[in-house]
Amino acid sequence: MKIVMLGAPGAGKGTQAKMIAAKYQVPHISSGDIFRANIKNGTELGKKAKEYMDQGLLVPDDLTVDLVIDRLSWEDCKNGYILDGFPRTIPQAKTLDAALEKIGERLDFALDVDVPDENIVTRMSGRRACVGCGATYHIVYNPSKKGDICEVCGDQLILRDDDKPETVQKRLSVYHEQTQPLIDYYADQGILKSVDGTRDMNDVFAAIAAILEA
Ligand code: AMP
Repeated sequence: MKIVMLGAPGAGKGTQAKMIAAKYQVPHISSGDIFRANIKNGTELGKKAKEYMDQGLLVPDDLTVDLVIDRLSWEDCKNGYILDGFPRTIPQAKTLDAALEKIGERLDFALDVDVPDENIVTRMSGRRACVGCGATYHIVYNPSKKGDICEVCGDQLILRDDDKPETVQKRLSVYHEQTQPLIDYYADQGILKSVDGTRDMNDVFAAIAAILEA
């Protein structure tokens, strides 16, 4: 099961990706998490990526593509994976397709979690992320049972710099310009499935499970 998650920032695709990964026992590979881990560990890559991320811009392809595609060759990916946040541009999607074709594989689904822009800014201002393990919560839709402390690792929950309202607006316009064209790209390949992401996260997940098990 090889799945690409699509959707605007804040549409809930990360949450759904984690739920799919847990139910179907495949790794959840988030390019944003890979960058955040590098930032936390103070690597050169992290320093470079942070400059773009803090402005709501995409990290350039030369810092992104090989990093993510290499990750797909790890042993834990042999039965599939959920890609979350990658690809984010048509060139990234084409590079991924070419890399898969070389090893005789292809994606099974591109799942679009559809949420209108109006809902996104409100949603993202309520998002909280753990400084320790990166787990994400929402103060209304998916609160931590421990308040502003992470349920998973006990570290502090914060509003990420890139979830602040001014950065969210920028990320949304970058999404429309550079990432939304992927919807047509995967529709043309016949693997696009869309779900209404405005509903409760468990209902969204039920719709996704129905698609994957059809
Ligand atoms: P995310 O957690 O997926 O929303 O990603 C957070 C930020 O990391 C994005 O706003 C980008 O700056 C950067 N990023 C993540 N994935 C990619 C990608 N595939 N290409 C370029 N930049 C990315």
